[in-house]
Amino acid sequence: MTAHSIHIEKTTNPKQKPASNQLVFGKYFTDHMFILDYEEGKGWHSARIVPYQPITLDPAARVFHYGQTVFEGLKAYLTADEKVLLFRPEQNFKRLNRSNERISIPALDEELALEALRQLIVTDRDWIPNEEGTSLYIRPFIIATQASLGVSPSLQYQFMIIMSPVGAYYAEGIHPVKIYVESDYVRAVKGGTGVAKTAGNYAAGLKAQEEATSKGYSQVLWLDGIHRKYIEEVGSMNVFFKISGTVVTPALNGSILDGITRNSILQLLRHWNIPVEERQLSIDEIYEAYSNNTLEEAFGTGTAAVISPVGQLLWNDHQMIINEGKTGELSKKLYDTLTGIQKGEVEDPFGWMVEVTDQLVRANG
Ligand SMILES: *Cc1c(COP(=O)(O)O)cnc(C)c1O
Repeated sequence: MTAHSIHIEKTTNPKQKPASNQLVFGKYFTDHMFILDYEEGKGWHSARIVPYQPITLDPAARVFHYGQTVFEGLKAYLTADEKVLLFRPEQNFKRLNRSNERISIPALDEELALEALRQLIVTDRDWIPNEEGTSLYIRPFIIATQASLGVSPSLQYQFMIIMSPVGAYYAEGIHPVKIYVESDYVRAVKGGTGVAKTAGNYAAGLKAQEEATSKGYSQVLWLDGIHRKYIEEVGSMNVFFKISGTVVTPALNGSILDGITRNSILQLLRHWNIPVEERQLSIDEIYEAYSNNTLEEAFGTGTAAVISPVGQLLWNDHQMIINEGKTGELSKKLYDTLTGIQKGEVEDPFGWMVEVTDQLVRANG
């Protein structure tokens, strides 16, 4: 604790909290935020929690011009007995540092980041909603702040954490989504930045997302950038297919994001002795499985929705209705188990949950 002294300035003007049933994803923010500065030669310094507020940046700040920025997303949950739990938070800061590495941002002290998050959650604890399906979404991010044009790594940065109470992802319960298989635009290629959680990947995907939405599809399924053939991922989710009893997901090939939900789902499936494969998977193979009735289920995985069943895929002229457009049995079981573990209602055999108290402790240990 003494190693990480974090100055706390509390707000004198707390905001009105939105009602639990009015929460919209990422619209409302808590009373406080965390800030840490970086300067070449000095390192990361001046850790502080301050009232949530706009930040002032020079128009020449490099983040605006060259997109040198990374982010993370995780959630805090309030249990029935009023404990605050985090799901594998150390994994988020490990991944943030892997993203940093790719985008030439100096590494962050993961212990300091976790302690900052803990203190920020304690400060804004009253903001964690407690209705079924709600949680506190946490967005850590880093921006390049050096005020000078020139394409080279910035010499100054800010790391911030902001938090937003969010409602149930599925207002009317878990339901399947329609997905558009994108054959023209691509998201990432091996050697590019697809493995990093960095803004440019999302900016590059907006056009395809917009076109898919206008056709009545909720998300885009990306194919590989070279052959436009191999499955990559869906929007901000990794993707799984159940074919003839085996669950298949694209291997971490250097262009998709290493999702923490993906990793957890793989562990759960192996724990249940369900056959899983991480490998190259083509859209032709999916279409063939669909055509011979062996494509049993499809679902996306990510922090926001946890599990998002796919009811329909459109690939060129091929319309595939999966599991009659209904949520599959395995998708439902994975959703119930993972959200149950996150809420502290289902046994956590993996030691994933971390409790926020005067320190961070394993919830089951
Ligand atoms: C964040 C993200 C995911 C999901 O990662 P989780 O750690 O499971 O939330 C998948 N794909 C992309 C592109 C993402 O940005």
